[in-house]
Amino acid sequence: MNVLIVGPPGSGKGTQSLRISRALAISHISTGELLREAIRLGTPLGDSACACVAAGCLVPDALVNELVRSRLELPATRARGFLLDGFPRNLEQLDALLSWLPPAGLDAAIELAVPNDVVERRLMTRERTDDTAAGIHERLQAFDRDTVPMLRELECRGLLISVDADRPVDDVTADILQGLRSASIRAQRSPTLADSPEPSRL
Ligand code: AMP
Repeated sequence: MNVLIVGPPGSGKGTQSLRISRALAISHISTGELLREAIRLGTPLGDSACACVAAGCLVPDALVNELVRSRLELPATRARGFLLDGFPRNLEQLDALLSWLPPAGLDAAIELAVPNDVVERRLMTRERTDDTAAGIHERLQAFDRDTVPMLRELECRGLLISVDADRPVDDVTADILQGLRSASIRAQRSPTLADSPEPSRL
């Protein structure tokens, strides 16, 4: 399967991504982790992204798109399928992703829905360097401004599986797997007579 996971910072994307990618044996690609690694290693990409990541704003699309595209082209990713964590984050990145995939190449997008006050509380207890009050505020604003319109587009395309993520981790994982199972059954089922609406009895 080729799947996206989308949610505000602190919604549990990292935790759920690890569980889901293991359960489905697909490649987990986290743009946040790849960027943090590039910054740690001091690569040219890391140097270019460093200030944006520290401030909690989005890294320019051209940089992130290139990073993701190179991962999607790896033979292992092509063979196994992927769970993209943190990408796409806006409509432009979604357009780019869809242009790289064959038609119907994206199976589903999982939305981790958590109220803002809950994510703010969760983020204040993490110890990531971008989890400052200003950084948290900026990332939540970027989510509302750039990512929510992309979620609505995924919904219009019938790809969105929204999960209440303000619950115990195991319950959220179970709901995601159930949603993906239903999406995969729907995708495989071709229209048959049994699927036709019943003729009116009037
Ligand atoms: P995350 O670990 O997903 O919360 O991402 C951490 C930071 O990496 C974000 O606040 C952004 O600065 C940057 N980042 C991650 N993914 C993207 C993306 N798809 N587009 C732009 N910036 C990103």
